[in-house]
Amino acid sequence: MLAINTKAMKNLYFFSLLVLMSFIACENSDKVVTTPINSEKAIQKKAEYAMVIHGGAGTILKENMTDEKYKEYYDALDSALKIGEKILKDGGTSLDAIEKTIHFMEDSPLFNSGKGAVFTHDGKNELDASVMLGNGRKAGAIGGVTNVKHPISGAIAVMEKSDHVMMVGKGAEEFCKLNGLEIVDPSYFRTERRWNSLQKILEKEKDMGALYENPDYKYGTVGAVALDKSGNIAAGTSTGGMTNKRYNRIGDSPIIGAGTYADNNTCGVSCTGHGEFFIRYAVAYDVAARMEYKNESVAEAAEYVINKKLVDAKGSGGLIALDAYGNVSMPFNTPGMYRGYIKPDEKMIEMYESK
Ligand code: ASP
Repeated sequence: MLAINTKAMKNLYFFSLLVLMSFIACENSDKVVTTPINSEKAIQKKAEYAMVIHGGAGTILKENMTDEKYKEYYDALDSALKIGEKILKDGGTSLDAIEKTIHFMEDSPLFNSGKGAVFTHDGKNELDASVMLGNGRKAGAIGGVTNVKHPISGAIAVMEKSDHVMMVGKGAEEFCKLNGLEIVDPSYFRTERRWNSLQKILEKEKDMGALYENPDYKYGTVGAVALDKSGNIAAGTSTGGMTNKRYNRIGDSPIIGAGTYADNNTCGVSCTGHGEFFIRYAVAYDVAARMEYKNESVAEAAEYVINKKLVDAKGSGGLIALDAYGNVSMPFNTPGMYRGYIKPDEKMIEMYESK
């Protein structure tokens, strides 16, 4: 009897051990199989459409903002989002949504793009813009134009009506004119606010007898990234560049992979900030590359590039990014960034640090 009991006990012991071991094995294999690195992609369903915009990053502080100024920026960002949303809701393309949204921001004197662009050292407005489609890697860009009312449409014309990706200066202006884009007198872009900013910097430079690096620089570039109902992403960026730029300096905004990038397999990106850093660090492409090669989520990739890589390099600015599921990321390493996004049942507009 005792022998039977001992045998039964032994069997029970081994059986329990087996159950425990297979449980542990299942637990571990579960972890390997079902815990994806890119967890956002796995758990979130695709948004029907989405759009994210920015109006530049920089020293945007609550204490320096009046109620009127806040409302002006808020209303402008709100109207811009609504323009894009209507197009996307009605089944329009992401390209159409970003073009019309950016037109609105280019027309607003609040932002450093189109009317309201910053001045060069020589007192001119030189505009840059770029666009990219996530489907098929089509892209277009123009740089250093002085009379194209909507530079983003110039970039789109290069993408759609030429075999090239980038055109600059007089040639780009001629191409835009030939393709029926609205041409204006260069004085159209002038605003007193931007003119006075240049004068202040020039005075400082005269006093110092050297180049003046403005520590409170505001990057006012505009950008939009949209996802349409067909699942296509488009990204666009438009800017006046940096105040007091000279020698036909061109920043990251019209450079594909630096200021703008889009690929349906990863994300669409539009950047704003100290362009030289964004070019050297291929910021927009780096976000997409981290998603592709490291399987990071759009938020992980964008946060790393802006708040680790660029911070280590002392490059200031921010970006907006949107993946094919409608996940949005808007990191910046400056005190603020004008930004917002819209999805079917979600909307957000922010200016200051939100952490
Ligand atoms: N990134 C732009 C440039 O360097 C400036 C900005 O974002 O305002 O030209």
